[in-house]
Amino acid sequence: MKKNTNKGSAPLLDVRNLQTYFKTDEGIVKAVDGISFTLGEGETLGIVGESGSGKSVTNLSIMRLIQSPPGKIVGGQILFEGKDILTLSEKELRHVRGNEISMIFQDPMTSLNPFLRISTQMIETILLHQKMTKKEALKKSIDMLKLVGIPAAEERVHNYPHQFSGGMRQRVMIGMALSCEAKVLIADEPTTALDVTIQAQILELINELAKKLNTAVILITHDLGVVAGMCDTVCVMYAGKIVEKAKTEDLYASPSHPYTFGLIQSVPRLDKAQDGKLYSIEGQPPNVIDLPECCPFHPRCNKKMDICTYKYPPVKKVGENHEVACWLYADEKEKSST
Ligand code: SF4
Repeated sequence: MKKNTNKGSAPLLDVRNLQTYFKTDEGIVKAVDGISFTLGEGETLGIVGESGSGKSVTNLSIMRLIQSPPGKIVGGQILFEGKDILTLSEKELRHVRGNEISMIFQDPMTSLNPFLRISTQMIETILLHQKMTKKEALKKSIDMLKLVGIPAAEERVHNYPHQFSGGMRQRVMIGMALSCEAKVLIADEPTTALDVTIQAQILELINELAKKLNTAVILITHDLGVVAGMCDTVCVMYAGKIVEKAKTEDLYASPSHPYTFGLIQSVPRLDKAQDGKLYSIEGQPPNVIDLPECCPFHPRCNKKMDICTYKYPPVKKVGENHEVACWLYADEKEKSST
């Protein structure tokens, strides 16, 4: 197993003030607007938010997979083991992708080539990143399929993607993503395209393998229930910004941003009596084109104050490793300096 060479206090991945914008005919979309977070070795970080909150763009930015034009990373740093991914050459970047940071997507069918056998695709991926013979790469492919729970892996490795069920295809993708012993695995809504019964198995598998291989995981999801069972820390995103960041247990024990509070309230609970209707956050996510410099959640917030409608709130510490961007936690001096 590959070991992190950056032991000590420095995080494995350190995203600082990342800004990724898209130029459209209607205006500038600030899909990711000044976000910062860190990921430690073997840690699991959840990035939560509604569609369009910027969570997938964040992770495509980390992999430098933003299509330009119309997208562009316009600011910030993405430090992986101390090196800024944004300054790497194409050759260095190829080494990082797959070898150091791997990604699995929502729908495995769009990531696997339907015309090629799984063996061909896995061997190609392994040989691209590791010095091995074809025979060794085939053996490694079979070992990975066994690891992700594919029965009769020696025969199944020669099958085509359509010969696997959706859940099995996602297992193959996880095996492929981990075949190069990446230090970071980015899982972008990895269970969205799967049946509910299979979802839990796939999440369990990611969790188990990450622990076994000491892989750090970034899990992108809109489901706070999933985060509760899997993640050490959570970033809640809204309109391209992180509005709350905390250890998972702290976030659940004391959600501080009204949006996070609403998200937690809207998760169905078996241990609490539900009197009829499930809670939902009123209104719609904002149009992120040319967003004004206010709190973008204010049209939906039942705690909004006047200041929320014209100025973005400062980020405040509300506990150890617990931060929130909301005017409710700002002091009078900060409010009056506007
Ligand atoms: Fe609500 Fe204001 Fe806090 Fe925004 S800053 S979440 S509008 S209280």
